[in-house]
Amino acid sequence: MVAKFWWGQKGVERKIHWKKWDTLSRAKQDGGLGFRDLHSFNITLLAKQGWHLLTQPQSLFYRVFKEKYFPHHSFIHAQLGSHPSFFWSSVMAAQPLILDGLRWKVGNGRTINIWTDPWLPTNPIRRANTVGFDTVDQLIDPDFRSWNLQLLEQLFTDREVSQIVSITLGTTSRLDQLTWRHIEKGEFTVQSAYLQLTKGLSSNAAESSNAEQTKWFWKKLWRLKVPTKCKHLLWRACTVSLPTRSGLQRRGVHIDPKCLLCGYHEETTTHILWACPLARNVWALAKGKANKMPNTEEADFRDLTIALASSKHPKELEQWTTLTWAIWNARNKFIFEGHQDHPTQIFQTASTLLQDYQQITLRSRIQPTTPESH
Ligand SMILES: [Zn+2]
Repeated sequence: MVAKFWWGQKGVERKIHWKKWDTLSRAKQDGGLGFRDLHSFNITLLAKQGWHLLTQPQSLFYRVFKEKYFPHHSFIHAQLGSHPSFFWSSVMAAQPLILDGLRWKVGNGRTINIWTDPWLPTNPIRRANTVGFDTVDQLIDPDFRSWNLQLLEQLFTDREVSQIVSITLGTTSRLDQLTWRHIEKGEFTVQSAYLQLTKGLSSNAAESSNAEQTKWFWKKLWRLKVPTKCKHLLWRACTVSLPTRSGLQRRGVHIDPKCLLCGYHEETTTHILWACPLARNVWALAKGKANKMPNTEEADFRDLTIALASSKHPKELEQWTTLTWAIWNARNKFIFEGHQDHPTQIFQTASTLLQDYQQITLRSRIQPTTPESH
């Protein structure tokens, strides 16, 4: 129910009380909370539900979802499953954001998997000599309650060793604890998650978003006369922060990275939005530069977008943005609802969306703000 209220491509704008949204979205100095982007705000609210699924195992909410969707492991490794409910697929959409912010605080180390759980800035790589080592407690000298330095040096790189030894160990009675790394106290807050999301899901995203040489491109993107949700989607695609199957796997989610649409290639951002047969069929309907760019899995989606953005025709980038949004939506529709739209239909959805948006903004500019009376 909560999700139905906050989430949904069509429903949400209608259902949210606009005045309330206005207060939430106003900048902090103007008395709002600074939530400017509705889509990101939705995701952070869903992330909060996901956080509960990780940290409140005694709640009824947890027990219901655990039994149904992740009976054998934790929410960290939960998968969408074949018949997800609307609520569950919504929460799963926020899973990458949660995974990105999670950090285990080492207690006795018994519940933390060395290779797949987030307890270091990046997960160490398994090597041939690491067989038999699974949980963090195996790296701790039980008599001295200190890291087994000799063992660490055998299993990890120098960098990993220095990261591990910088973790202070407590008594064996202290349980491992999941914390939210964006807040010093370690407790999830909607505001910190929102900031993180709008900053980019990873520091890479933030870096690439700020790079000096592409500043013109980001400026151009945010100024586009297309619906905000489309700009935001394109931004996420260009900063590799979309929850593609390959992206989820890299974040430690146990998931087959293969594209569900073609069943052949790994579902990377470039694949699903550009190179997958469904995307190809949609792009074939587009005019201009988009049609002439290389069809390859190896291209970087951001580079393709930048190439397109340098085109002299502003209409092309508008079309690119709405089509990207429509393709991603068609992908979600297929995965979450089992319905596959025809490429012409996807193309049409994007075109209509763009036309309607531009007509409305044009009309609001022409019409006087107060009705004339005679
Ligand atoms: Zn595919």
